[in-house]
Amino acid sequence: MRPFDLKNENYPGHREGAGFETDRIPEDAVLKKHGEFIAFLKRSKTSVDEEETFRNYLSDLPDEEVIGLYEALRDEKIEWEKGFFYPNIQYLFGTAFEREKDYREQQLWRENSQQQREVTRWYEEAKEKSCVWWIENHIISRHSISSCMSCGACTALCPAAEFYDFSPRMIMTIVQEKDEAEIIELLKSDTIWYCHQCGSCKPKCPRGNSPFGMISSLRQLSQIKGYHVESVRGRQQFAARHLWGGNLWNRACTLYFRNPEPIAHRDFGPRFALYFKHKEEMFRRIGACPDMDGSLSGRKVHPDTLDEVRKLWQAGGVLYLWERIEEAARRQAEELGISLDSYHEKVKSEG
Ligand code: SF4
Ligand code: SF4
Repeated sequence: MRPFDLKNENYPGHREGAGFETDRIPEDAVLKKHGEFIAFLKRSKTSVDEEETFRNYLSDLPDEEVIGLYEALRDEKIEWEKGFFYPNIQYLFGTAFEREKDYREQQLWRENSQQQREVTRWYEEAKEKSCVWWIENHIISRHSISSCMSCGACTALCPAAEFYDFSPRMIMTIVQEKDEAEIIELLKSDTIWYCHQCGSCKPKCPRGNSPFGMISSLRQLSQIKGYHVESVRGRQQFAARHLWGGNLWNRACTLYFRNPEPIAHRDFGPRFALYFKHKEEMFRRIGACPDMDGSLSGRKVHPDTLDEVRKLWQAGGVLYLWERIEEAARRQAEELGISLDSYHEKVKSEG
């Protein structure tokens, strides 16, 4: 058992601790080649200007080199007690570097797939068909509605309806009427993104409907058609795809412990803000070190495990939807005449 030492400056995760020099350029050949970039990455606070510097640097590098650099940094390790500590994970998450690497890596994954996945073929077909066709054919949508009698029970108990101008009953009515123009308007609105997928509406419906399932199906359709960028909440999917998506793709978890900044989670309250401010010390106090390997780490995941979960997301159509979100964001950023990183900042902070 490690001694309980609050002042232990050598504890992994403590940036200035001995054996953890932020400006040290490692010996690995890949890392050495990109030494200046790495030193900049470690010093940066990920402002938009700095993100553009990352992107300019990466724009001249081939995909394999960007991925190789990321992996070499991710895998650099320091011995710590009976395991290894991975000091660079905290510099990589949420950066333009990680976003660019993920985008290129996922493109290669799709290109190198021996055959297009069944679900991807189906989504491609749906993209060209009407929204009414989707509602009648998408498996989740089909199972989510038989006949809604507009009783309003779902809206009465919906927690999101308390805070927003939002009614699952209205959504079910629009869908049931099968008016293409009205459905498109719904897909372009914030409405479908207000639901927080708690599932309370499903068990209470006297007709056995699932507004919850229908909304998740409509969200997919909105992304496939690119309508989501027309609403504030919809275009936030770009930030979400890189936050939760980046965590899933690189760390096999939805939330990395350094992600939930109090400014974005005011509902967590002042105690959480205090904890977050002192999180490294808190970890030290309980003897936890999340940037190590192991089942509860945050997160150095074995490459074979990562490979396996990535295959699952690809087979389930996740890569296809991420591509649609990325494509729509790049297009809208261009239309607005702003860089992709400024666009990322905009969608993260608006609304
Ligand atoms: S509870 Fe069911 S039947 Fe009633 S409005 Fe909602 S979806 Fe329709
Ligand atoms: S799943 Fe969505 S629509 Fe249903 S009760 Fe929860 S927030 Fe409301």
